[in-house]
Amino acid sequence: MVCGNELRMDAKQFLAEPRLLISADALLHNAALVRQAVGPDTRICAILKADAYGHGARLVADILAGHSANTINSPAVDALAVASIDEAELLGQATGPLLILRPVENSFLGDQRSRIETAIRSGWVLTLCSAAAADDVARIALACGKRAAVQIMIDTGMSRSGVAPEQFSNLLNTITAHAPLRLFGLGTHLAESEDADSQLTTRQIDAFLRLTGQFAAANPRVLRHVANSAGIFFHRQSHFDMVRPGISLYGIDPTMAPAKERPLRPALKWTAPLVHIRHVKKGAGVGYNQTWRATRDTRIGLIPVGYADGYLRSFSNTAQTLVCGKAAPVVGRVSMDLTTVDLELVPDACIGDQVTLLDDDPHSPTSVYQLAKWANTVPYEIFTRIGPRVHRVLSETPKEEVANAARTA
Ligand SMILES: *Cc1c(COP(=O)(O)O)cnc(C)c1O
Repeated sequence: MVCGNELRMDAKQFLAEPRLLISADALLHNAALVRQAVGPDTRICAILKADAYGHGARLVADILAGHSANTINSPAVDALAVASIDEAELLGQATGPLLILRPVENSFLGDQRSRIETAIRSGWVLTLCSAAAADDVARIALACGKRAAVQIMIDTGMSRSGVAPEQFSNLLNTITAHAPLRLFGLGTHLAESEDADSQLTTRQIDAFLRLTGQFAAANPRVLRHVANSAGIFFHRQSHFDMVRPGISLYGIDPTMAPAKERPLRPALKWTAPLVHIRHVKKGAGVGYNQTWRATRDTRIGLIPVGYADGYLRSFSNTAQTLVCGKAAPVVGRVSMDLTTVDLELVPDACIGDQVTLLDDDPHSPTSVYQLAKWANTVPYEIFTRIGPRVHRVLSETPKEEVANAARTA
């Protein structure tokens, strides 16, 4: 059981351990920037899949949607979304609608049926992409004695999930004909919205409008939603009734580089203590296979974090960390539970000092943008790899004015 008080435990409690410091101010500031971009009439559905992009889904849900006792009285976002029913269960109680993004498939295989029953009883919105899935969910809802909230995701060009345009009207008719189903929304997902001139995005939005226009005009309560973070900032015509920001809420620019015109604030800082310092002589080898050798006498700092925590092995002999604000390069191989850094440039570093592995300053040498470059990936993957051994704690209680700015009108 995690209650509100536990969620706001003092970050100091974990001072001697690796921790993710999550800034409520930054999350609320980013939600306010999204709100500014879409205006007061468009709903915001915060994407919390994959443990809120590694930030801790319960913490983030609490900050943005104000589930438990909180300084925030009205939530910064209007709805939440996760990938799966399992993730929804981990989230605990939600105030607004909670969307399950992964389409319902194989409802009668394994444990699926009981999961779907849980979702229906909890009022979560299930995603349907086939008439067969709609029939199955209707049958389960009937047996539960409760209507199931559902939405349709349409494949308008990504060719991943979603109902094909040719089958959309059949699915729509199937759902509206089933009394146990209540249609919550219609959506699609954009494939390259970070490109403001993308022709594909224009075609996707046009296809979505063509398919849904008539129905939406007759059914204004059914929410249409298309935009991810990049859609929000680069394609105004993708906003519709609701937007689905993920990465931008966590403070990362959808262009995958900091942008002056969108002052998003990274909400996560990953620190760990220096647990040991070893003097090594010139010529000494460090770590598995001795992939680094001291070219002068130096001091090697030991950090209790490794690739099992999501500090990637590809950072070996490549990434930087910050110790007392100074650069300390990773030397030798990152191992499963431990990482070694060269303290040559940090002569005053002591055991117990905090090492910054991932900084919340977007321009820092250890920003998530920089770590993603070193690992030849994107900030999304760096974040979602951070493992469960790292404690997620709030770095501060939210400031009232930031909370106010993020509130719905
Ligand atoms: C993950 C996801 C989003 C959020 O995308 P970002 O690029 O992180 O803003 C939106 N919609 C769907 C369907 C998603 O799966």
